[in-house]
Parts: sequence; C-alpha cells; structure tokens
Amino acid sequence: MNCKYHLHKKALWHCNHCDTPFCIDCCDVEPGMHAPRCLLCRNHMDSYGISDQVEPFWNKLSLFNGYPFQKNAMNFLGIFMAIAFVVGIINSFIPIWLINIALILALFSVGITYVFSVLTKVARGEFDAPSHEEVSLNNSNNMTGKVIGLYLVLIGAGILIGLSGGGTGLFIYVAAIGFFFPAMMINLGMVKDIGAAVNPSDLLRTVTGIGWPYLLLVLFVYLIGVGLEFAQNTIYFWLPEFLSYPLIYGALAFFYIMMFSMFGYVVYQYHAELGYGIDAEQIMNNENVQPIPELRTLAHADVYIQEGRFDDAEAALYETAKNPQYSAQALERLIKLNMARKNPVATVKAARAYYDQKDLFKYAPNALALYQEIDSFEPRFKPMNANARAVLIGAIRNPKLLPVVEKLTTDMHDRLGQDPDLAKALSAEAKFYAEVMNDDDKAIDLLNKLLAKFPHGSHKTEAERLLGVCMNMKQTLSPNT
Ligand SMILES: [Zn+2]
Ligand SMILES: [Zn+2]
Repeated sequence: MNCKYHLHKKALWHCNHCDTPFCIDCCDVEPGMHAPRCLLCRNHMDSYGISDQVEPFWNKLSLFNGYPFQKNAMNFLGIFMAIAFVVGIINSFIPIWLINIALILALFSVGITYVFSVLTKVARGEFDAPSHEEVSLNNSNNMTGKVIGLYLVLIGAGILIGLSGGGTGLFIYVAAIGFFFPAMMINLGMVKDIGAAVNPSDLLRTVTGIGWPYLLLVLFVYLIGVGLEFAQNTIYFWLPEFLSYPLIYGALAFFYIMMFSMFGYVVYQYHAELGYGIDAEQIMNNENVQPIPELRTLAHADVYIQEGRFDDAEAALYETAKNPQYSAQALERLIKLNMARKNPVATVKAARAYYDQKDLFKYAPNALALYQEIDSFEPRFKPMNANARAVLIGAIRNPKLLPVVEKLTTDMHDRLGQDPDLAKALSAEAKFYAEVMNDDDKAIDLLNKLLAKFPHGSHKTEAERLLGVCMNMKQTLSPNT
C-alpha cells in the first residue's frame, strides 16, 4: 500500500483513527517514541512493517560479518578471552570437576549475556555493538539461567524420545531442533521466556511470520556453525589444551555475536510480522527517510494541503523556507497555494519573501514564469527590490514580453538616486533592448544614462562593452539607411 499523499511512496504507518496510510516522510517522530503520531489527529500510529522497505537480511551479510569487529564487540571479545584464559589454566591444573563446570558456566554466562544484548539491540534497529555498560544494564534478565533451562528441557525431551522412539525419532528430533534453533533464540531473546522458546505454536508463529526467508536464515546459521567447528578443530589440533581455551571460546563468542546480530536484524526487518514494537526513531535513522528535515516538512505540507488545512500547510512551508537552500521551493508552493485559494494578501506576502531571496538568479527562468502567473492573478504586485528586477529582466528572452519589462522598470529611473543597486537592473534593461528588441538607440540611451549616473561599479565593464557593441551595430547599419 502506498501513502495517501505521496502516491509513489510506500506506506509505513497507519492511523486507525483517520484510517489513513502514511509514508515515513509524512510522520512526525519525537525522540524515544515507539510509534510516530499522526500528523492530522495526533494519535499514535500502527506500523505496516518494514520488511519490504529495508535491505533484507540476506543482503546484509557484511553487517553481520563486520559486527564482531566493532570496537565495543572487540573490547568484549578481549575480556572474554582473558577470562577464558584464566579458566583454562585453572581447569588444566586443578582437575576438580565441580570447580571446572562452575567456571565454564560462569564463562558461558558472560558470553550469553552479551550475545542476547546484541540480539535485542539490533532488533530495535540500532546496529552499533553494545558497550560494557549497556550489557550490565541488560543483565537483570538472567538470560544464562533461561538458556540453561532451555537446554535442560531440550536434553530431557531428547532422552525421553530416545528411550521411547529409538534412533529415528531422535534423528527427527535433532533435525527439528536444528530447524527451529533461530526461532528459539529469537523468541527467547525477545520474549525472555523459556515457554516461548519451546512451545511449538510460538515457534511456528515466528517461522511463518518470517516466511520462506526463514529457510535462508537456517542455512546461514548452519554455515556459521560449520565455520565455528572448523575454527575450533584447527585450534584444538595445533595448541596445548590450556592455550587453546581462550582461542576456542573466543571463536565461539565471535561466531555467536555474528549469528545473534543476524537474528536481531531479522527481528528488526520483520518486526510487524513478529509483533514486536520497534523504535520509530531508529527507522528514521536507518532507512528510507528523507535525511533532510526540510524535505520532510515539505512532505507534511502536502498532507495539510490535500486535507484543506491551509494554515498548517502555510506554517510548514514558512518553516521550510527558513533554510535558504529550500526557501525557493517552499515559497513557490506557498505562492501557488495562495493563488489557488484566491488569497491575494497571502500571495503577495509569500511572493515578497520569494523575490527577496538573495540567490534568486539561480532560479531565474522559474522566477520569471512565476512572476507572470502572479501578475495575472494580482497585477498590483511587483518585485520592488533591485536584485529581483535585474534577475527578472535578465531572464526575458522574448520580445513579446516587452510590457513585462516596461512594468518592471516604470518607476526605476526616478528611484535610481535612492538605490544604487538598481544599476544592475538598468544594465539588464539595456541588455534586453539591445539583444532581444534589437533597439540599439534605446539601449545606447540607457547605457549612457547608466554610465553617467554610476561611472564606477561592478556593472561598468559590462555596460561599456555593450555600449561598444551597440555603437558598432549602428555604424554598420547606418550606411544602408
Ligand atoms: Zn507521505
Ligand atoms: Zn490520524
């Protein structure tokens, strides 16, 4: 579905109150908000999801591969390997199994806490690796206990199946765990409940929410597992046990961080399908948003105009016009809006602002066309400032527009004394008579006036050159007459 106001843009949010789909540019997002507010009624909106809007996870492999190399993740890996090193030494030299298991569990706990922080953070659309402080904040969820609980449930069920169903049943069971592993981790990480991670209907909901790409996810997880096993076998083969500890566990953490960043991204991508709220602000930062606030304000103005809320539209457009880079665009819309509303006062107000722009010369042809439109709507309007007159006269290349030049120059000659900038407009007028009207006498007359009144200034060289050209033309033409 597309935005009601921007027919070429996909709708991302839906206002239930107005029953209207909005694109992201139409949305108003305030910091720390889960859902943006509707521009029209100020209610919170529902997300249509972004699964067809953002880069899909299978195109984001470089994000996941690079994730463990981010500074925060590298810091974590360093600490984790240091702990593993200590654990390795103790376990090699003090072979008391209770101590050994407890230490390994402690090590796992550190890793589990970190990778689940990765998952939940990426799921919100924040792609930078969590820092030490963020992870300690996350610790209260006791993910380690839940992971151990999950493993105990899975192993217990496996034993039961092995005892009753034999080899085939167990094989199917292990294959099913392999298939559901991503869904288990996603449910455990997001819902933080073992039930959600083992309940078949919860798992199926996650799988079907993602749809066919879930198979791709299983494949990627399998490949990461293969890479991990290869790394661990190599390390194990070449190094003595106590030295291999930090490397084996480091590799484990490395590949799991990669995998969990992918799980997190899948949640981010399919958040609406999976039923998770995501930070609207992050969507704004990540993708598909006009990065420039002025362009978004212009989009808001579209909504207001189409809804007939002209005062709101006017406010949005004047807001946009504060940035000189977008003022031409915004003011032009304001002028046209007010002409359409048949409001001459507001039209003239916007037109004044438009023709007061210092860099009007950049939009010269447009400024001229717009002036003609305004002129036929409200003939009393005339840009009074020298710059606008010079730009408009300079843009006229059609002899039929002589009345426009005459109108723009009516009081100019009397006002030359008060406004030396009008020299530029006078110079443009002379040029118009010389080049467009082929009226050399008039041009020479104007140029002489100009040079007499303002013998110095930036216009001088150009005026003298033009005067020379006109005199030459006259001389070449005169023998024939
Ligand atoms: Zn829109
Ligand atoms: Zn609404």
